[in-house]
Amino acid sequence: MSLEMLKQQMCDIGKRIYEKGMVAANDGNLSARIDKDVFLVTPTGVSKGFLTKDMLLLVNGKGEVLEGTYRPTSEIKMHLRVYQERPDVGAVVHVHPPYATAFAVAGIPLDQATMPELIVLLGSIPLAPYGTPSTGEVPEAIAPYVHDHQGVLLENHGALTWGKDLEHAYFLMESLEFCAKINWLARQINGDRELNERHVKRLLELKEKMGIHGKAPQGIRMESDVTAKKVSPKLEVELSEQAIEEIVHRVTNRLIKAISKLKDEMNINKHD
Ligand SMILES: [Zn+2]
Repeated sequence: MSLEMLKQQMCDIGKRIYEKGMVAANDGNLSARIDKDVFLVTPTGVSKGFLTKDMLLLVNGKGEVLEGTYRPTSEIKMHLRVYQERPDVGAVVHVHPPYATAFAVAGIPLDQATMPELIVLLGSIPLAPYGTPSTGEVPEAIAPYVHDHQGVLLENHGALTWGKDLEHAYFLMESLEFCAKINWLARQINGDRELNERHVKRLLELKEKMGIHGKAPQGIRMESDVTAKKVSPKLEVELSEQAIEEIVHRVTNRLIKAISKLKDEMNINKHD
């Protein structure tokens, strides 16, 4: 793909992440490797829904601008760390998709064996510990996960995926958000259920045949032939300490009244 075509693709994907609600305002950033040590990146302070080719920049492996008039994304260190760790990676996508980010805020990784697509195509998505955006903390936090996964949730922040090219990294992000949304909806209906490890094993064989690498959820060990088992309860409204105390107080009062009424009745009966 020529540099001009890649720039156009980056603008198009910027539009898609914005229109799909994966980012708000000027959030999110995209990058693609165009040579061993040269990268095309999005600028900071610009909505990714309205990118034009002249806004994009070329930077080297240190994040120094080689070409372009805008300032590169403030998350450049995070992108460059992925390329450093994985010479086979051709593109990185970072956004704040609401469902996946809700899991990141709740501190829950996306590593449940709930759907074949998740197991085969996406693999397990771990939760990288929180780091202050734009600092060296974020690249340090993601580094341990880059080799064995295709993406991570960034604790209390958002999501990051990497792939062989920009379209691949973007599609992984779409799948990640889609799986997070479905898991969330299932939790509300009846709690989500993980597949039996025997089913997962067959999916993992498929995954290997397809040449897709990376860690995947392993499923639930079950003696019976049940397809899937509930792993999280249906979401219930959580009561505050104060509300629980209030309920205990009311129930206790009623009990005391009922007991004393019973005692009175028994005393009356005795005198009869
Ligand atoms: Zn971010």
